[in-house]
Amino acid sequence: MFVELEEPLSGDSTHTIAIQYSGIPTDGLIIGENLFGQRTFFGDNWPNRAHHWLPCIDHPSDKATIDFIVTAPDHYQVVANGEQVEELNLDEETKLTHWSESVPIPMKVAVVGVAQFGVRQAGEVAGVPVSSWVYPGNRTKGYHDYAPALEVLRFFTEAIGPYVYEKLANVQSKTRYGGMENASNIFYFEESVTGGQDHIDLIAHEVAHQWFGNSVTEGNWHHIWLSEGFATYGANLYIENTYGRDEMAKRLISERQQVLVFAKRSPRPIIDTTVTDWNRLLNVNSYQKGGWVLHMLRRKMGEVDFWKGLRQYYAAFKNGNALTADFQRVMEAASSMDLSRFFQQWLYQPGYPELAVEWSHKGNLLQLDIQQVQAGAAFDFPLDIKAEGPEGDELKWTVVMDRSRKTVNLPCGFKPKRIWLDPDTWLLFSADLQQK
Ligand SMILES: [Zn+2]
Repeated sequence: MFVELEEPLSGDSTHTIAIQYSGIPTDGLIIGENLFGQRTFFGDNWPNRAHHWLPCIDHPSDKATIDFIVTAPDHYQVVANGEQVEELNLDEETKLTHWSESVPIPMKVAVVGVAQFGVRQAGEVAGVPVSSWVYPGNRTKGYHDYAPALEVLRFFTEAIGPYVYEKLANVQSKTRYGGMENASNIFYFEESVTGGQDHIDLIAHEVAHQWFGNSVTEGNWHHIWLSEGFATYGANLYIENTYGRDEMAKRLISERQQVLVFAKRSPRPIIDTTVTDWNRLLNVNSYQKGGWVLHMLRRKMGEVDFWKGLRQYYAAFKNGNALTADFQRVMEAASSMDLSRFFQQWLYQPGYPELAVEWSHKGNLLQLDIQQVQAGAAFDFPLDIKAEGPEGDELKWTVVMDRSRKTVNLPCGFKPKRIWLDPDTWLLFSADLQQK
């Protein structure tokens, strides 16, 4: 659809256009019954379904402030982006609710939810109110399940920088996705309420998006890993901080397995400009492999520079748009490293290092013959190796794999009982390890 203007608008001034329209949207605003059989209305715009119900430029690079002024039967509560600035009973049956988002956001995360909700204020983090919006029949369980959003918000605020939106609402909804990170107004799938706080990692993923995806938004769909890879790794960072590194490593190992399987089926790079159906970008490359790229970048840059770089990237592109090259530039400045090969091999090339490794032990030397056998170019990466001796003693080394084949002799006084590759879970790879 397009609007034809009677006179062309001059390009050097601001214009206000009022568009009146009516109807039942075919998509974008989902009208239906929730799991209690109650009628509900939930915006669900990702990737570019907003234009089915809102006049807009439906692209992540076009960010705008937005007000939702909703008139609805008064038994509904209305939640939307930003801050509630007014609620008014218009007559015996009808209520007006006005939400105002003063921070520019992309249309993919600009929505309303209209339903019967129980609403609970969960608390506040650095002046930002956090609330839970759940179906009345799920009231007690739902408040309990969404309460961890408070701690998650505290973690990312302290780790990355100030949260930009007016509030954080956590909403039980009918989104088609597991969770949808709508700006300041996260929608979770209906069955996320269990009473057992079973989806803390999902909450962490969606809250991480408020920084990466919503505030710093990918300039176009092909760079979606800047949103999904960051949220996937963001959840891991929260899990690591809260439950320890072993819990994060378990997730990384399972995510690595998914990357390996997906790469065989779809040998494409993370930034895959051949894709034109944006839904196809909701794949393992954008999420799990993107997360793994950040994890390996953390190792490469070191703890201090990695976190410094993340904070600087957020500060530089907050409430704007970024592409992968922008992120690379910030991380290079933060670490004083040339990261061009790292970004090239992990983001613009498909696959991962597939290793064939043979080891033997003679005298006081452990010899390893390490070969990269994947199709395509060799990767450049550090490979950690650990050996365990008969008495349970351990030795560790790091081999810099800067070519396709390397034979190394490592000082090792005992005859190894067992050899590990990547014992501390830092590398996206597969290996066939044999004793010669
Ligand atoms: Zn996500």
